Amino acid sequence: MKFTRLRVLGFKSFVEPIDLHIEPGLTGVVGPNGCGKSNLVEALRWVMGEASYKNMRASGMDDVIFSGSGNRPPRNTAEVTLVIDNADRTAPATLNDADVLEVSRRIEREAGSVYKINGRDVRARDVQLLFADASSGAHSPAMVGQGKIGELIAAKPKDRRALLEEAAGISGLHNRRHEAELR
Ligand code: ATP
Ligand code: MG
Repeated sequence: MKFTRLRVLGFKSFVEPIDLHIEPGLTGVVGPNGCGKSNLVEALRWVMGEASYKNMRASGMDDVIFSGSGNRPPRNTAEVTLVIDNADRTAPATLNDADVLEVSRRIEREAGSVYKINGRDVRARDVQLLFADASSGAHSPAMVGQGKIGELIAAKPKDRRALLEEAAGISGLHNRRHEAELR
């Protein structure tokens, strides 16, 4: 799954719109402390369906919305869009007729999040499954946060197994089985 662009508006410190082109190969993000490097990675995790505000270093999901600074007033919405090159058709079958997928998540204060794929309203679940199937979800081992290596070494076998399942791309299947059993 190739990410080609990340658009961010009103998310955390990104009050001005940014449209980041992600070139093939390795991308490095550099800058002084507090310039927004971690916020950028969080924007990526958020658009993939991160449901835990704690994982966003926030005390509520609305905290991801730009809260104002200096003479800039706070915003009421935040939006992140991830553009994916689907030429290799790695997306689930229902989305497989599109060469490019645009996944977006928008949050409004006190109104929660709305997700879209190529302009169509979808559930958070659809977005989470899209990335879980491609082993690149918000909790995938492709995203290694600070302190995570130490945590993995100290983890219980059951927790370590969950990580291996995510890496193998089968956690989406587990989630679907769980949903099917609930019905
Ligand atoms: P370091 O090099 O120290 O890891 P960093 O580049 O990763 O720094 P971030 O943690 O991404 O920096 O950015 C922190 C900045 O983002 C802080 O200045 C903080 O005030 C700002 N910030 C976080 N949430 C919001 C928000 N909701 N509204 C406005 N600014 C925010
Ligand atoms: Mg940081």
